[in-house]
Amino acid sequence: MSTLFFVLFFIIGFGALAYKRASLISFTGAFALLLVLSSIIGDVSNLIWILFLVIAVPLNVTTFRQQYISVHLLELYRSIMPEMSRTEKEAIDAGTIWWEADLFKGAPNWQKLHDYPTPRLSSQEQAFLDGPVEQACVMANEHDICHNDADLSPQLWQFLKDNGFFAMIIKKQYGGLEFTAYAQSRVLQKLSGVSTVLASTVGVPNSLGPGELLQHYGTTEQKEYYLPRLADGREIPCFALTSPEAGSDAGAIPDMGIVCKGQWDGEEVLGMRITWNKRYITLAPVATVLGLAFKLNDPDGLLGEQEDLGITCALIPTDVDGVEIGRRHFPLNVMFQNGPTKGDDVFFPLSFIIGGPSMAGRGWQMLVECLSVGRGITLPSNSTGGIKTLALASGAYSRIRRQFKIPIGKMEGIEEPLARIGGNAYLMDAVTTMTTGAIDLGEKPSVVSAIVKYHLTDRMQRCVIDAMDIHGGKGICLGPNNYVGRGYQGAPIAITVEGANILTRSLIIYGQGAIRCHPYVLAELDAAGCEDERQALEEFDSAVFGHIGFAISNFCRSLWLGISNSRFSNAPFSDDTKRYYQHMNRFSANLAFLSDIAMACLGGELKRKERISGRLGDILSQLYLTSAVLKRFDDEGRQQADLPLVHWAVRDSLFKAQTALDELLRNFPIKWVGKLLRLVMYPTGITLVTTNDELDQQVAQLLQTPNMARDRIGAGQYWAATPNNPVGVQEQTLTDVIAAEAIIKKISKATGEREQLIFLDKLADKALKLGCITEEEAEHLRKTEIGRLHSINVDDFEPSELIANMAK
Ligand SMILES: Cc1cc2nc3c(=O)[nH]c(=O)nc-3n(C[C@H](O)[C@H](O)[C@H](O)COP(=O)(O)OP(=O)(O)OC[C@H]3O[C@@H](n4cnc5c(N)ncnc54)[C@H](O)[C@@H]3O)c2cc1C
Repeated sequence: MSTLFFVLFFIIGFGALAYKRASLISFTGAFALLLVLSSIIGDVSNLIWILFLVIAVPLNVTTFRQQYISVHLLELYRSIMPEMSRTEKEAIDAGTIWWEADLFKGAPNWQKLHDYPTPRLSSQEQAFLDGPVEQACVMANEHDICHNDADLSPQLWQFLKDNGFFAMIIKKQYGGLEFTAYAQSRVLQKLSGVSTVLASTVGVPNSLGPGELLQHYGTTEQKEYYLPRLADGREIPCFALTSPEAGSDAGAIPDMGIVCKGQWDGEEVLGMRITWNKRYITLAPVATVLGLAFKLNDPDGLLGEQEDLGITCALIPTDVDGVEIGRRHFPLNVMFQNGPTKGDDVFFPLSFIIGGPSMAGRGWQMLVECLSVGRGITLPSNSTGGIKTLALASGAYSRIRRQFKIPIGKMEGIEEPLARIGGNAYLMDAVTTMTTGAIDLGEKPSVVSAIVKYHLTDRMQRCVIDAMDIHGGKGICLGPNNYVGRGYQGAPIAITVEGANILTRSLIIYGQGAIRCHPYVLAELDAAGCEDERQALEEFDSAVFGHIGFAISNFCRSLWLGISNSRFSNAPFSDDTKRYYQHMNRFSANLAFLSDIAMACLGGELKRKERISGRLGDILSQLYLTSAVLKRFDDEGRQQADLPLVHWAVRDSLFKAQTALDELLRNFPIKWVGKLLRLVMYPTGITLVTTNDELDQQVAQLLQTPNMARDRIGAGQYWAATPNNPVGVQEQTLTDVIAAEAIIKKISKATGEREQLIFLDKLADKALKLGCITEEEAEHLRKTEIGRLHSINVDDFEPSELIANMAK
């Protein structure tokens, strides 16, 4: 009986302590107490006491543990540790970790999530959005830009320069706007709702490029010369990294600079001869200053003993002889400035290196550091802005457009894609707000920026496809009235740039996340690489035993949360959202546990098992996206009207996390391990379901009628009913149509027929004759008919108007 009591207490006690992440000394103390109690009340065999002492003493006596256990573990670890190149190491070390690290550790602290401040706009930022940004939206005509002019109009270019659009990240002391990341995001969102080209043109100089690099690494002289000129638009920057031979593998650029002496401004100076061939460079055709990444070599030892200095970044004025720019690529009919640049053995002084000669070879580090910020702002914001606008536009169109005598939005087939757009719009805005908020707190969240770049551009592309399907031929026929087609054409650009999505998902999110977010892996790697053996052993011992405890804890958490379907775990709210937090507790523990098992089973091979690491990254990503939705809901005052959007977004993401986990277990390279893991994590089988028809319907309906939740989805976008803004005109028509529906009901009652929302001008005349409506109501019907036709009609052209002279 006492043995049974002891075993039972042992299991429960061990599990509870592990679940709560108790320290080794607490474990030892608790078991010593249990043994003492059991010895007092019953009969505990001496063998158990001996076993306890044999295990507990060596583990708790640090010097003994280091000398006899950790030293061998360190040896083993060094023999299996995967090789890491310098560029890989620099990429992994770049940036900071943030909330995603909490999610990775298996026991998220929800209070911490909700305590992060909600970003707000300053009065200057709000005034910029209400003034110059609104004006830029008025001036942009996407059809003219993409079809007629193949560029922004000269007036719009000048307006952007004059109003500091290219200087949102530049500090005020240099004449820039020095906006927060959140404000930049809001500007880009608004612009992208009107014109993809406009948003890209503004986004690039404010992202990774000369402005950002100069502020962080430039010499005083470089900053004082270039930053004011970039701020007022005298200089147009671009940044050239990609070469024909080096796209995703950007560290492999073959572009080369050789340190040598040469003539510059009539004097002999120390410089470099650079040969480069770059492609796909945004703004290169119009750039006045070219940020260039190349590998620098010093064969004659003019700078020191090191010959291969590594990737270096320089700022090159494009008017120097030998700098080739001007030709353009033709990126999917989305006519922003993008093209190649070349140079063959062109000489520049070493002072052109960003940060001066001492920064030679530090280029890769600079780029990956800055990418951690820019990647989290520009493309996610452009994608979000586009979908916010499309969500309202698709809802309005679905209500206005009728087939089979009912609004297409009432058809269940349309409700499904419409719900996807609505739910994603809510989620994407939540994610950009939370992420830019983190950047404004001083974070350079490298893993988060990869997550949001991949998932928001991916969701944007899928939503645009949905929007195209909803709009039918209206989305297909390009022209000034088409607000979907250009976004659909341009979506693959966002997928490809700043880390192509497949690579980002397969290699970057988890590759970097596993090392940076795991509480012990980086410490183990650093300890193993430490040259001072004493220090290496001490640090490794502390990391590896912490790691073992962490893995045991995550095993216990996964098992208990699986058995209990996470019911008793902590959640900060007890309303409809409670279960979501609890499910996330479980996924978080699963992710931490699975990560350790995957690393233990696959070691360095995990890097090549992209489908395994991609799915681990998916779990982490979906948890991050879900956190953002729950935080947004709370930050905005837990608006009950938004609940369908919250439910849709959370269920969709958590189901995706579950699918990733399920697929991972099914495809785990060691089959029996996969089966065992399933038993631990899903003892009662798969539990989560995704959205359902009823929820889809609620979200779809919410998009089709003006209401507060709908307003929150479209908040901050450009809705003025100006001639270049068909979505603004359509918003007005939506309101008119809803009012017209009431009038039509009245007419139907009088005529005894089911009158339709069609030929409203004729219907108005008929009803006036019958005397069943007022002149005012008739006028409303006539006005609505004009708007309705504007909404459903597409553009047509004289054949000559479609001849693309610029492509001849
Ligand atoms: C319109 C546009 C604008 C751009 N602007 C700039 C700019 O301003 N400056 C600049 O320097 N560059 C720019 N780029 C370049 C852009 O960053 C690259 O296109 C991108 O890095 C991908 O390179 P790639 O096109 O050569 O594709 P590739 O590298 O050939 O990749 C092809 C496919 O293979 C996948 N892949 C590659 N490696 C892996 C892997 N290890 N695991 C799984 N999948 C993998 C990729 O995800 C992709 O799907 C721009 C590109 C475009 C199209």
